[in-house]
Amino acid sequence: MKERKYGIITRGVGGLYGVRTIDREKSAGERISEEVLCRARGIFRQNHITPTVGDEVMIEPVDTADGGSTEDWYVPDEELREARDAKKSRGKKQDVRVDFVIDEILPRRNLLIRPPTANLDYLFAVIPAASPAPDLLTADKLTVIAENYGIETVVIVNKSDLDPESSARLTEIYRTAGYTVFPVSAERGDGMDALAAYIAEITAPDAGKTHISGAFAGVSGGGKSTLMTALFPDLNLKTGGVSRKTERGRHTTRHVEIYPLETASGGCFWLADTPGFSMLDFTRYNFFPYDELAASFREFEECLGECRYTKCTHRKEEGCAVLEKMERGGIAPSRHESYVRIYDEQRSVPEWKRRMT
Ligand code: GDP
Ligand code: ZN
Repeated sequence: MKERKYGIITRGVGGLYGVRTIDREKSAGERISEEVLCRARGIFRQNHITPTVGDEVMIEPVDTADGGSTEDWYVPDEELREARDAKKSRGKKQDVRVDFVIDEILPRRNLLIRPPTANLDYLFAVIPAASPAPDLLTADKLTVIAENYGIETVVIVNKSDLDPESSARLTEIYRTAGYTVFPVSAERGDGMDALAAYIAEITAPDAGKTHISGAFAGVSGGGKSTLMTALFPDLNLKTGGVSRKTERGRHTTRHVEIYPLETASGGCFWLADTPGFSMLDFTRYNFFPYDELAASFREFEECLGECRYTKCTHRKEEGCAVLEKMERGGIAPSRHESYVRIYDEQRSVPEWKRRMT
């Protein structure tokens, strides 16, 4: 019987996948293997399953002498399209030898389409206190998306050194909303210990999960790369040192890659990022299920069903429990404003388009 191993897809290009296997028997630090190059079984295409970065998989050795180049492997959509456009056989890239095959994709906790990422546990929403001026609508859209996918949002208010008052105001807004918030200055180091301790805690080896993953998102210039570099000193090494010989240049920035990074508790944080440190583009999610929008604002939740009108849209109706809670200070006006803006944006989207993509 072939030895099957459990692992995580850390990157994927052109039907080739990097997988890091996790040996659950070993102690932290030595549990995670170097990347092994894999293909996926052709059966996934028949079953309409796209192997995705972040997937928890079972892999097994390829047992043919030619590295499996004659087997009917999974070919991603983009490859099929390209082959069709270029009128060439799709067999060409199968020349690359692989030693392992992805045999099974384990049930997903969630699946984001853009950027394509599976099993994200945490979204670190980075909001600058200043420079650029905080964009609360963008931040609130991130929280709504995360709520819909069952991803836990942690708010990082960065650049607190530039405007302490703005930092305090933002911290208050998101704590009132029910989120964990870290006001920091990535550049000066203020508040960074508390943030690092939080990451150590959620990744502690005894926390019972095999794999904790997260991504940093927010407006460009907010300080995501500065934060990641400060929190994970290994990251620069890894992003520069990874072999990219199987990747074609033009794909590089579009693809997500996941880096297993050791944390202070001896655990591992699987950081999803793109090689160029460009932001994970959550702002391209244009559609929110607007009838469920209110439930995606966690601090509205206890009010739902309490309004005078059963069809209350919580924008300006009389006897609206959400508005009453806001008047009592339980909901920040900026959060309600974002809610109204997202609601109105969604109403202008035709029904057939109104879905999460
Ligand atoms: P990204 O686009 O979100 O990845 O942002 P960067 O990490 O590239 O940061 C953008 C700029 O803000 C850089 O010039 C950083 O040096 C600067 N920056 C990042 N964090 C801080 C901070 O806490 N305080 C100050 N004053 N500047 C910061
Ligand atoms: Zn209402």
